[in-house]
Amino acid sequence: MTDFKEMGLSEALLQGIAALGFEKPTPIQQQVIPAVLQSNTDLIALAQTGTGKTAAFGLPLLQLVRPQERHVQAVVLCPTRELCVQVASDMAHYARYADQYSIVAVYGGASMETQIRQIRAGAHILVATPGRLVDLLVRQVVALDKVARVVLDEADEMLNMGFRDAVDLILEAAENRQTLWLFSATMPAEVRAIADTYMREPLEIGIASRQQANADIEHVYHICRPEHRYAALKRIVDAHPGIYGLIFCRTRAETKEIAEQMIRDGYNADALHGDLAQSDRDRVMQRFRERHLQLLIATDVAARGIDVSDLSHVIHYGLPDEPEVYIHRAGRTGRAGRKGVSISIITPKMEERIRIIERRARITFARNAIPTGTEVCERQLFYIIQNIRDQEVQREQMAPFLPKIYEALQDLSKEELIERFASVEFNRFLAYYRDAIDINVGSRPRANGRLSDRTPSSGSTTQQRLFVNVGLVDGIQKKDLLSLLIHDLHVPKHAIGKIEIRRTHTLLDVEATYRQEVQRGMSSFNVNGRRIRVNEDNGGHTVAFARDKKKRHANKASASSR
Ligand code: AMP
Repeated sequence: MTDFKEMGLSEALLQGIAALGFEKPTPIQQQVIPAVLQSNTDLIALAQTGTGKTAAFGLPLLQLVRPQERHVQAVVLCPTRELCVQVASDMAHYARYADQYSIVAVYGGASMETQIRQIRAGAHILVATPGRLVDLLVRQVVALDKVARVVLDEADEMLNMGFRDAVDLILEAAENRQTLWLFSATMPAEVRAIADTYMREPLEIGIASRQQANADIEHVYHICRPEHRYAALKRIVDAHPGIYGLIFCRTRAETKEIAEQMIRDGYNADALHGDLAQSDRDRVMQRFRERHLQLLIATDVAARGIDVSDLSHVIHYGLPDEPEVYIHRAGRTGRAGRKGVSISIITPKMEERIRIIERRARITFARNAIPTGTEVCERQLFYIIQNIRDQEVQREQMAPFLPKIYEALQDLSKEELIERFASVEFNRFLAYYRDAIDINVGSRPRANGRLSDRTPSSGSTTQQRLFVNVGLVDGIQKKDLLSLLIHDLHVPKHAIGKIEIRRTHTLLDVEATYRQEVQRGMSSFNVNGRRIRVNEDNGGHTVAFARDKKKRHANKASASSR
């Protein structure tokens, strides 16, 4: 059925979805909605986020609830608070023009009393996380004996998060239900087991559609050595100015670490993971949704509730173990008819996993080179140029300032003006990428472009010697420096070379890709009230020391002449 009007939905619900701009049902909606409205069938639907699954179960639930009966008639279980809030809000939108429905979101980390009050006021539909709903059942403040329909949304994730016991308890409490609908992005044995235990001849939908990858998504991967993954991430982000994307990490710790590094490096990024308080998660999500944040770094679980349909990129900082999880992640982009790119940053060992995903999901990946510093600069430059071209000019507001502007710039030719305007942002990238080496695996490290051609000091990595203006007289010890580098600046151990602590200064070898991070990072620390200063040591320690001495003499000289 390719029209919502033929599905048996009420006029009010049709009006609600029309107001949301839904013109045609998505494939999952076409299959699910008429089927569950026509019969009391149990249902297993393989559906990822972005397929329109919420409306696929939300609309029929609303249609089947009887608003005049003020008791809980349907329960939707969701793995996370975010998803819970999202689903409840989506359903409230569908029902905007319908009779008075009460849809209550029930999740941990929020006031139980308020939720109890809302349920007692006559909730029709509970959208709940399993943990909180079990709490309410145990306290006997909610009864599920009159529940006719239960939906398990993102069942795989719910089981991954260890909610099997809670799901069992809830399904037993809702023993008089007529139907159970299960939606899952993947279909592992544990999800099947739920269906086997609780369903009778379920209708299976979308099981084959797993194979039909979204053609609007381009899959790309880049290979680098493990120690270059963060540098590769930055290059990729920098090479896509205007990116609005999700970066997936495998663990909370990695999510935090990458987010902290990116924020420190000046990116408009933040993290979403389970260790954050609910209020912080809400705040981060809101900033991301409103595009105040450009990059959101998240774990798979935390990203479940994210409903943003116009992401330009999904970046996988490493690959997930399950091909389905990859597809699910990638499906966050390329939505609603837009094109999207799914980029994986992997180590050579992970390439085999790319082949497995290709075979299982029937998609093809392109292996692309990690952009060189010069390429990043070029892309940024043309982004700036395009921005200047597209810039809307507020003629009226500008008018009072124009004479002065013309006057200030009058001696510049058109060419000079163009150069200067384009340089405003470009110079930053140029400076940053000046010494950037090629970090592609399989290619020898070489300095990019015209600027530097240091030779690798050992193996295939380029070491850079740095001069640090603190030494033994400042009480500095090697372990302090190591701790600062590794714990505070997140420089991997292997990227740190020789550390020589001298009387008044220290010579520190780091992999060249970390030079800027170390320079910038260390400069924000003080030792005994003195700001740490880090310089490139271009000619070995004696030159640096001599230079330092000379400088001190110069300072003395100027001080005495004053
Ligand atoms: P979901 O898979 O439920 O998370 O939905 C993904 C996105 O698609 C949400 O932003 C929905 O608002 C949107 N959506 C769902 N169904 C339709 C439809 N039939 N037409 C257009 N957009 C839709």
